[in-house]
Amino acid sequence: MVAGDQNTLVAVRTRLLMSKSPVAKSLLDLIENKEIGPLKSFSSVVRDSYGPTELYFPKLNRSMAILTTVPSQEDLHDIIRRKFESHDNKLGSSSASLSDPGATSSQFLISEGALASLRHSSGYLATDIVLPNMIVEEIQEKCTPEKRGLRHANELFTVPTTVSILPQDATLGLQHNTEAFTYSTLLSGSMVWMIWPPTEHNLATLRNAYDAFAKTHDQDSFKILEKFEYGVTFVQKAGDGLRIPPFTPMLALTMEPCVLAKYQVITKDSFFACLEKLPLYMSYWATEPLGAQMKAEFGRGIVSAIAEILTGAFDRIDLNTMRNPIKEKSNILTLLRTWDNVKMGLIGIMDPETKKRLKHVWVTFLTRTTTQRCLICGGAVRRDRPGHEEGHFSRFHFENE
Ligand SMILES: [Zn+2]
Repeated sequence: MVAGDQNTLVAVRTRLLMSKSPVAKSLLDLIENKEIGPLKSFSSVVRDSYGPTELYFPKLNRSMAILTTVPSQEDLHDIIRRKFESHDNKLGSSSASLSDPGATSSQFLISEGALASLRHSSGYLATDIVLPNMIVEEIQEKCTPEKRGLRHANELFTVPTTVSILPQDATLGLQHNTEAFTYSTLLSGSMVWMIWPPTEHNLATLRNAYDAFAKTHDQDSFKILEKFEYGVTFVQKAGDGLRIPPFTPMLALTMEPCVLAKYQVITKDSFFACLEKLPLYMSYWATEPLGAQMKAEFGRGIVSAIAEILTGAFDRIDLNTMRNPIKEKSNILTLLRTWDNVKMGLIGIMDPETKKRLKHVWVTFLTRTTTQRCLICGGAVRRDRPGHEEGHFSRFHFENE
């Protein structure tokens, strides 16, 4: 195969024909029926369906790699072996973003047998288990997003790199990317990806599949790939970095044992977009055994983010002089304008304690300012009456108590 042709359909087809995975057949059908295109030669219609700028289109090349130098295969084996030697059978799995599909904050356990094989010289190549989202310090140290030019001008949060180990012929099942721009760098192996734009049609189609699966637990619920529009497919090889835009439905199949590093950036735009995509998250959580926990973590993550925004962490703005109507553009202003539209959904997913914290965050913000008009709705606020501000917030901008 000629180097650099991994974005063509021929490259994808060649890999899929060699795969023993039953999923490969359905992916080949998509290509055969022209229901998915190559990443290499997409039309402007396809590109525009992903979002307003180039950033929202998936991008694959070496300059997208989060590591300045990808370790040699030998070094990678050693790094992973050291990781497994330094721990017992517990491996911290991080909560990778506000709501990372597949990630949980709980620890996962692997069997002694699998652990022994991971410590063996053949290392991860010999295991057939998926080890998701591990913190591998030696890899994290090599990740330098600043040096790689992978910072976003409007980023709110970044999530440190995690490493996943995937056996050959493993499927990363169909689901949406989180609210993050995900920079996934393949350190070893190769995989075939399919990514679709987060159009209204595609997300509704995916959500229906989540809902159907939650009811029936039938994997056939996800046999909907031919219903998606504007998908692209390509091969990611060792050393390649891949930028996956927020909310894109995606699916991947490993062609060999793979080691995948993942770094995530949540931007201002993707954060506010996620507040409005709650129904999609709700449907997704219902499909996951740890869905309740994911939902609770998401709620807590949202409150932390709102707390940071409302204390001015992301704006150069003097909170004490804010008046309604606010003229300067800021993250606070976007949140104030978004809040009434999203509050019911968000409050609905929160446990009582998180809810209480959220209310406290808002009331602290509102009472800190000295405006006579509510910063959210412009309604009169009687600052001379104790508790009036909190009462107004509770009645009009929280649970209508
Ligand atoms: Zn108000």
